[in-house]
Amino acid sequence: MTFDELQLQDTLLRAVKAEGYTTPTPIQQKAIPHALAGRDVLGVAQTGTGKTAAFALPILQRLSAKAPPGGARPVRCLVLTPTRELAGQVGDSFGTYGKNLPLRHTVIFGGVGQNPQVQALQRGVDVLVATPGRLLDLMEQGCVSLRSLEVFVLDEADRMLDMGFIHDVRRVIKALPSKRQTLFFSATLPPDIVDLARSILTDPVRVEVTPASSTAETVSQQVYFVEREQKRGLLTHLLKDGNIRRALVFTRTKHGANRVAKQLEGAGVSSAAIHGNKSQNARERALDEFRSGTLRVLVATDIAARGIDIDGLSYVVNYDLPNVPEQYVHRIGRTGRAGASGTAVSFCDAEEREYLRDIERTIRRNVPVVEDHPYRSGQAAPRPVNHAVAVAPEARSSGNGGRSQGGQRAGGNGGGGNGGGHPAGASRRRRGGRGASGGGGRGQGRPEGGRAAQGGGGSAGSGRGGSGAARSSGGGRPSGGVSSAPKAPEAAPLPPRRPSPKWF
Ligand code: AMP
Repeated sequence: MTFDELQLQDTLLRAVKAEGYTTPTPIQQKAIPHALAGRDVLGVAQTGTGKTAAFALPILQRLSAKAPPGGARPVRCLVLTPTRELAGQVGDSFGTYGKNLPLRHTVIFGGVGQNPQVQALQRGVDVLVATPGRLLDLMEQGCVSLRSLEVFVLDEADRMLDMGFIHDVRRVIKALPSKRQTLFFSATLPPDIVDLARSILTDPVRVEVTPASSTAETVSQQVYFVEREQKRGLLTHLLKDGNIRRALVFTRTKHGANRVAKQLEGAGVSSAAIHGNKSQNARERALDEFRSGTLRVLVATDIAARGIDIDGLSYVVNYDLPNVPEQYVHRIGRTGRAGASGTAVSFCDAEEREYLRDIERTIRRNVPVVEDHPYRSGQAAPRPVNHAVAVAPEARSSGNGGRSQGGQRAGGNGGGGNGGGHPAGASRRRRGGRGASGGGGRGQGRPEGGRAAQGGGGSAGSGRGGSGAARSSGGGRPSGGVSSAPKAPEAAPLPPRRPSPKWF
């Protein structure tokens, strides 16, 4: 399918071509026709699938089809995003795709002076991209009216919930006209997201690409077994590979991010850390420098990195493994975007073995182990669990050893039987992070995720430089052989992880 077949107007087609897009991504192919027809859409897609254009293009087309009422410029489209970074990127996309159209957009988020944002609103905008906290503040002050709203987009709804914004989101929704088009995007569909979607969508079309449990085929994944104290040496060792032009390194904690960035700097690798304790200016500067190639390594926590869109990023390192498998999927989704190839390497210490097993269950494949490297931990345990075959939940939760009999347990479950749901999920979420590292995953999400974290400079308005379409493919391979010896075949599909909601 080509963009021309999507019934988009010439002005948009030109903008898309100027970005170097030749083919609509699957989410664009699926969502754009329905969104253009005015339908509500439930889009299940993660960042990196092209979902922003999937909603921005039809919105721009519909808004430009009729002039703003009465010469005024009330907000006609609101896009709510969980983080200021994502808000900035979505704003940039509206600017890029809408550059040939007489529509205005602005971006508002908290933590910075509100005056430039208020002034931009007073001048009138058609599309408002906002994080919930600042939006509510400005609504309470009477600076934003959403009375004329025609389209509402809730972007990264699952992240919004994770970050504790659900009440703010509901308050915003209450202020919207009930007659509107709603486009709802989420990478995952846990029950609370289904509830939220159900309460705000009318007769939606559900479009879905790449379930959150699956990792892009274009990303080569590898795991290094390494003692915790050796991770630093291993990272520096891998970065000796000059083919790795840019690397995004994930740590579980903010302190960890600072420490790794400092160590890399000490080893002569230009790097910076971004996380919620950094000022907006520092974060934006680091991102810009990373994008431009001045910085080779960006070290980030999950929340700070969520939604970061770096063209041509071909190397992601999980310095710490996340204890929530979906986070792994999101992390490695930073590379291999829009079909480009990439490499995601994970460092796994003894305490993280369990996380790795959860991740492998979730992505339904074993991550190849790099055996040959100078920092290999002495106890690279055999990895006999065949993740390509369903494992009975009760067998897993029994917690007894018998790992070498994974296949047998799986057989006992009847393999392809539909267990319904995702047994590993609930227990995983409840499981705490590692005490020593300050608690991982969701437990640590809040400090960065609250409203206070939405600070930031950057004035309202558009344009932070185009998101060039150039993407590099390939990406450096670290030295060391990739072993696939103890692996199970990756082909056999498992039953769905989560029961799909029937109501759509
Ligand atoms: P998103 O999922 O919206 O964050 O988009 C991920 C990346 O894909 C962004 O860098 C977009 O510029 C890029 N992109 C979006 N649509 C296409 C397309 N049809 N072809 C190539 N790249 C695209």
